[in-house]
Amino acid sequence: MKIHEYQGKEILRKFGVTVPRGIPCMTVEEAVKAAETLGGPVWVVKAQIHAGGRGKGGGVKVAKSLEQVKEYSEQIMGMQLITHQTGPEGQKVRRLMIEEGADIKQELYVSLVTDRVSQRVVLMASSEGGMDIEEVAESHPEKIHNIIIDPAVGLTDADADDVARKIGVPEGSIADARANLQGLYKAYWETDASLAEINPLIVTGNGKIIALDAKFNFDANALFRHPEIVAYRDLDEEDPAEVEASKFDLAYISLDGNIGCLVNGAGLAMATMDTIKLFGGEPANFLDVGGGATAEKVTEAFKIMLKNPGLKAILVNIFGGIMRCDVIAEGVITASKAVSLQVPLVVRMKGTNEDLGKKMLADSGLPIIAADTMEDAAKSVVAAAAGQA
Ligand code: ADP
Ligand code: MG
Repeated sequence: MKIHEYQGKEILRKFGVTVPRGIPCMTVEEAVKAAETLGGPVWVVKAQIHAGGRGKGGGVKVAKSLEQVKEYSEQIMGMQLITHQTGPEGQKVRRLMIEEGADIKQELYVSLVTDRVSQRVVLMASSEGGMDIEEVAESHPEKIHNIIIDPAVGLTDADADDVARKIGVPEGSIADARANLQGLYKAYWETDASLAEINPLIVTGNGKIIALDAKFNFDANALFRHPEIVAYRDLDEEDPAEVEASKFDLAYISLDGNIGCLVNGAGLAMATMDTIKLFGGEPANFLDVGGGATAEKVTEAFKIMLKNPGLKAILVNIFGGIMRCDVIAEGVITASKAVSLQVPLVVRMKGTNEDLGKKMLADSGLPIIAADTMEDAAKSVVAAAAGQA
């Protein structure tokens, strides 16, 4: 789960990381009031969306007067902000943060991620803050320093000081950097984050260390123990189909293609998407209806897929192990009738009660294309999506 920058900074502040004073706003009027409250002479108007690269896309602007705060807030609020993380359609800006302007002398980069290889939290740091870290990794990999953190001891003073020196923190600011890095680690650890990135972490003109940006991702599997993080959820920033699917406990991810996939089991769902692509098609979604899906759940899954105006065909691929094929057949029939299905539907089912399921589909009178193997199913649905069924 992702959150906004201003929320990330609230968390950082709680764990002792220094952040600028800032106020989140939902309207331009609130933005001007926030600037008055903060006091000048320099403010930064910052779009709040769940994507980075806002500065480059015109979503972060430095204002030197209240008039400018108003002008920039009007520009940014409501804009369709396009960054390298939003995709070409961009993301609508519905919230702003007005923040006090910081006196930047150095822009550094620090982040924490969970590394699968070492199975530990890794601190990544670089002197090249403010830019895309992917670019730095490509052109100057030697400028990225990694520290693998032992969970039993946490981020030690020695490691924190060492990495701070390596990224160019001046000697007089090392203790300040240490405190901030350790606060960041604590925030990451205690909130069950899967990413915490501060880009840039700055050194100010008088040597203070401040987190100027904050990006967090949280492990969805641990959210049950963090109601305070769940409260930060902003559904406006999430894909509506995915939000709808989560209400029915369906694992659904929207994709760019035109072939809807309804599959049970994440592994089979991945294999199904691969097979569709192998035969030249493009999946419209990933969907795992789970082992214990009911006819109701299948109906909801159909409804969600069919909301996509670009959908050209659907492939249902079910392995009846725990899930019985007749239950899926019932769901498919109910759903097709409920939504008066307009696109071709290819169904492949194998396993428990396969014959019964197939018979139910055949007797339903619905124009269902039956397929026996994965290859058959993929070829049929790709042809159907291309209008050649
Ligand atoms: P993004 O990473 O989404 O572009 P940032 O919060 O990192 O957004 O802001 C982009 C740039 O704007 C920063 O690298 C920094 O140079 C500048 N900036 C951001 N916040 C402030 C601030 N409070 N004071 C001064 N400059 C800022
Ligand atoms: Mg940034």
